[in-house]
Amino acid sequence: MNPTIAVIRGDGIGPEIMEATLHVLDAMALGLQYEFVDAGLAAYEKDGELLPARTLETIERLGVALKSPLTTPVGEGFSSINVALRRRFDLYANVRPAITFPNTRARYEGIDIITVRENTEGAYIGEGQALSEDGETATLTQKITRKGSDRIVRYAFELARSAGRRKVTVVHKANILKTTSGLFLRVAREIAAQYPDIDFNEMIVDNTCMQLVMRPEQFDVIVTTNLFGDIISDLCAGLVGGLGLAPGANIGKDAAIFEAVHGTAPDIAGRGIANPVALMLGAGQMLGHLGMEQEARRLRRAIVATMEARDSLTSDLGGGGSTMDFARAIARRT
Ligand code: NAD
Repeated sequence: MNPTIAVIRGDGIGPEIMEATLHVLDAMALGLQYEFVDAGLAAYEKDGELLPARTLETIERLGVALKSPLTTPVGEGFSSINVALRRRFDLYANVRPAITFPNTRARYEGIDIITVRENTEGAYIGEGQALSEDGETATLTQKITRKGSDRIVRYAFELARSAGRRKVTVVHKANILKTTSGLFLRVAREIAAQYPDIDFNEMIVDNTCMQLVMRPEQFDVIVTTNLFGDIISDLCAGLVGGLGLAPGANIGKDAAIFEAVHGTAPDIAGRGIANPVALMLGAGQMLGHLGMEQEARRLRRAIVATMEARDSLTSDLGGGGSTMDFARAIARRT
């Protein structure tokens, strides 16, 4: 079977890092097929729509998309395209690996942490936000459901099992947020009991931040609610040298979208100097999702070997290579 994936080239540096990523995937001869679709500014300039129906239909039909960053035009009436995609396909799991690579300015070595963030509930539901008439009091509603907690924690345990990982840490604040975080923790404990082969650990979010900075090697898979996951996954990206190396997957029951965490980098767009590794790592997550775990490892090993050799690194990594030089150096090592 040759899987077909929807490919969104994106805006800014998007087309450059996508060309580099597809170059490496093609060099690996995995038999992947692509259907190219538009979104963001590129789509808006063509059809006057940020998220055309054909793009949505293609993602729905194929179930897997590889996506470069998109520009959401600033101004009234433009809501985030990424949020729209997450809602449309109920992409409930945001999966963010943080791995240390050689020859970066990372503060630690040997970090390999996956944060699994609940992506549809918690403090980010957008409902129940209110400001009093005098502007002096603001309130916010958090929503945690048994169903939402169940599926994200189960996802984390299944991921741990299939990726050969040993430990899942649930991060919460149930000592203070007794109802919302309390429900999440209760459900997590129930599900953990169904996975006796995986160690289970609970940690309060503030302590987690300290522990991540002091002893990050104790973490393996982290699962948490939306707001905590947003912050913790960026903290982890910082531990391993920043956003240029940080991929993210957005996973739902019927569709999954893989991307780099960074944006369109308008300051360097069009110059062929962007670092393509974050998107390549996103493609690696995609291969794992397609059941091609061996190939995902092969891709990651090639990236590590290229960085170890300092071969054609882009300038953000202290080298002088172009995006495509770097891609060709990685492709040679796959
Ligand atoms: P950004 O991530 O685009 O850029 C921040 C800084 O990091 C810039 O200096 C940039 O040059 C650098 N950088 C980012 N990626 C890089 C790479 N691969 N190689 C080398 N340097 C890199 O963040 P921003 O400037 O806040 O956002 C720019 C645009 O991107 C905005 O329109 C925003 O809406 C959009 N955005 C999109 C996504 C997405 O589609 N997933 C995510 C974040 C931001």
